[in-house]
Amino acid sequence: MQYVNSLLDLIGNTPLLRLSRSLSTPDGPSFDDSAEGHGPLLLAKVEYLNPGGSVKDRIAERMIEAAEASGELQPGGTIVEPTSGNTGVGLAMVAQAKGYKCIFVCPDKVSEDKRNVLKAYGAEVVVCPTAVAPEHPDSYYNVSDRLSKQPGAWKPDQYSNPHNPRSHYETTGPEIWAQTEGKITHFVCGVGTGGTISGIGRYLKEQNPAIQVIGADPAGSVYSGGTGRPYLVEGVGEDFWPTTYDKTVADRIIEVSDADSFAFTRRLAREEALLVGGSSGMAAYAAKQLALELAGTPEGKDAVIVVLLPDSGRGYLTKVFNDEWLAQYGFPVDGAEQDPRSVGD
Ligand code: PMP
Repeated sequence: MQYVNSLLDLIGNTPLLRLSRSLSTPDGPSFDDSAEGHGPLLLAKVEYLNPGGSVKDRIAERMIEAAEASGELQPGGTIVEPTSGNTGVGLAMVAQAKGYKCIFVCPDKVSEDKRNVLKAYGAEVVVCPTAVAPEHPDSYYNVSDRLSKQPGAWKPDQYSNPHNPRSHYETTGPEIWAQTEGKITHFVCGVGTGGTISGIGRYLKEQNPAIQVIGADPAGSVYSGGTGRPYLVEGVGEDFWPTTYDKTVADRIIEVSDADSFAFTRRLAREEALLVGGSSGMAAYAAKQLALELAGTPEGKDAVIVVLLPDSGRGYLTKVFNDEWLAQYGFPVDGAEQDPRSVGD
């Protein structure tokens, strides 16, 4: 019989899926025949296939196991974390398997769908305003600090926990290297805590220093030179520099607007049947921009671009996939993007 004993055994080993249809533009090159040696091959690492539905299952498992080993998390303890949802789901799932309680602190811009998922796993959710500075007592960072000082509480702090990037260095990076048989030339992902890009990027560059690591960032976030001006895409971009982000890893940051992120998220659903979240659309849009730049160049012939898609679109049905919501912010509903080559980096 084929079965696993724990849901935790199903974390990781996600597949790579070739994208082609959504790369086409009316006047651009065709990617339909793209294969090895014939132009950029664009492969998506589909992280919503993790059991908790996102890439964050990986860091949750690694951070909890490290805290158990160090004694920071004791049997019957409570996990307290500020999270935009996915890390909470990962932590709640691992915590349930291991018998811990969870309290999550979310900014108010996080969709109600995502909060309800956390509650469904039995976690407590505390909602904080987004429109306050990180040092404000009501900011979600500070509220979680206060809660984590309760007896038996442990705060993983995905923004400073070295096991966040380490989980990617130990699992996601080696998976991508093995799945591409070492042929990967470019890696693209969105940047939130920076754990994904730092861990995977460092691993890949250790295997082959020529591999280019590209971060995708919402316009306004610090990684692309902004000050943290509000943007609507969830889970990526920051208004401060987390220690989990290794500034030496990314070769380039591509800035993507909310409008393009959402339009491309919808294209992925309609043209590739990939129902993913807005940060996936943002990363895939940046990867598409890169593929278009490389198309027709000598370097592009053997380029293998891997883009990581962090979560599913199910958590955004009332936002990215809702026409009224998009229209309310003046975003195009039918997936009309800007010309990718006109977007600055
Ligand atoms: N996309 C989503 C939906 C996320 O929740 C996160 C995590 N904040 C990211 C992307 C970015 O990943 P990382 O924190 O590893 O930079």
